[in-house]
Amino acid sequence: MKTQQIYYSIRVAFAALRHRRAANRFQYWDREQIQRYQLCRLQILYDYVSVRVPYYQELIRKLHIPRPEALADIRRFPILNRDELKQQFDRILSHEDKSRLTREVRTSGSTGQPLRIILNVRVESIFYALLWRAWNWSGYRLGDRTAILRGKIFENEQLTQYHPVLRALYVSALHYSDEHLVKIYEKLKNFQPKFIRGYPSTLTLLADWMQRYHQKPLDSVRAISTDSETLLDYQRRKIQQAFGVKVYDVYSHWEHIGLAAECKHGRKHIAEELGLLEILDQNLAPAKPGETGRLVGTTLHNFSMPLIRYDFGDLACFAEGPCPCGRQLRQVESIDGRIEDRLWDPDGRAIIRLQAALKQSPGIAACQMIQKKIDEIEVRVVKGKGFCERDILNLRHSLQRLAGPKMHLRISFVGEIPPGPNGKVRFVISKMKGSISEKNA
Ligand SMILES: [Zn+2]
Repeated sequence: MKTQQIYYSIRVAFAALRHRRAANRFQYWDREQIQRYQLCRLQILYDYVSVRVPYYQELIRKLHIPRPEALADIRRFPILNRDELKQQFDRILSHEDKSRLTREVRTSGSTGQPLRIILNVRVESIFYALLWRAWNWSGYRLGDRTAILRGKIFENEQLTQYHPVLRALYVSALHYSDEHLVKIYEKLKNFQPKFIRGYPSTLTLLADWMQRYHQKPLDSVRAISTDSETLLDYQRRKIQQAFGVKVYDVYSHWEHIGLAAECKHGRKHIAEELGLLEILDQNLAPAKPGETGRLVGTTLHNFSMPLIRYDFGDLACFAEGPCPCGRQLRQVESIDGRIEDRLWDPDGRAIIRLQAALKQSPGIAACQMIQKKIDEIEVRVVKGKGFCERDILNLRHSLQRLAGPKMHLRISFVGEIPPGPNGKVRFVISKMKGSISEKNA
């Protein structure tokens, strides 16, 4: 088993090196070339699933779905949600696809419901080539020393682990206390990373600790890249202030369909060769640029488990206008975490722009909002550098304005906000699932 995993990883790594050149060219293609490529891949996908994947064979027959002649023809397929995917798992897999090497990953997801995803060498190698391209946008070059503060947890309370091939120092995600942050900072100082990658929550805690103890930014660091959690405005500000470098945010999924990353102009470009992404309004029509809707994606490469119009459970909106970087890859303006993880006002409306509530509270190091009742929000606050009473007054005032006067706010102070089972810290936890979210989603 172990040998097979190593063989799989080597195949992915070599294929990623191959895909890299194509990825570098693709990013400067014009809209027509990009769309022609996507349509071509879509047609190949259609031809494949219509004969080899039972779930789609039946759908195509029942709904008389023709071979796509334009990208908009994808809309002939129905939306595939997580529950449907779980139920139809075996029928969505391509059993004939034995020649390809595959790997199963389990995503814990923010809802805590695990989901199995089957990936293959092709989609993983393209995904990594594109992720690599995204890191390049922040100046990263292969072989640069990188510190990684993500969800890794090591045995024996070990704080860090060095990967000599990747020249990467992994820092354990479970150690957040001041006592550990001192050690982490010292380790980073000795390691002298050129780049830091990590969860926004972990990096914010480190940044806050650096500010509280007047620690200087690390001279070696050129840029910081965040991923896996929604990067909140106040987190970006704090990390940039403490480290004195720019933060580049990356959005991606284990499903390997959607990947979007910020260029140096702060615009988030979609890796359009990986998947075809749509944003849909409440009537399932394409949302206009600037209009927030459900993010839905179709794989262009994973034929081992081809997902068509898969609903990620995230909200997003497309941005318009050319980017000074010259890339014509579509841009997303904001991606708003999972729909399940939203707070609702007493009238059942989703509370949007929640992170704006923290804008006037610079002394707050971390914050988590939990809703168990429709008219009550529990707010957990970790005090940060320069915390004062005004931070709480401002937070209460802004939150009350967003959630309406009927909402009760219960604010409490905590020493830290522990990460969930997947190692990520959630900004919003909604226990209102099933009652409100499904009705409005
Ligand atoms: Zn750009």
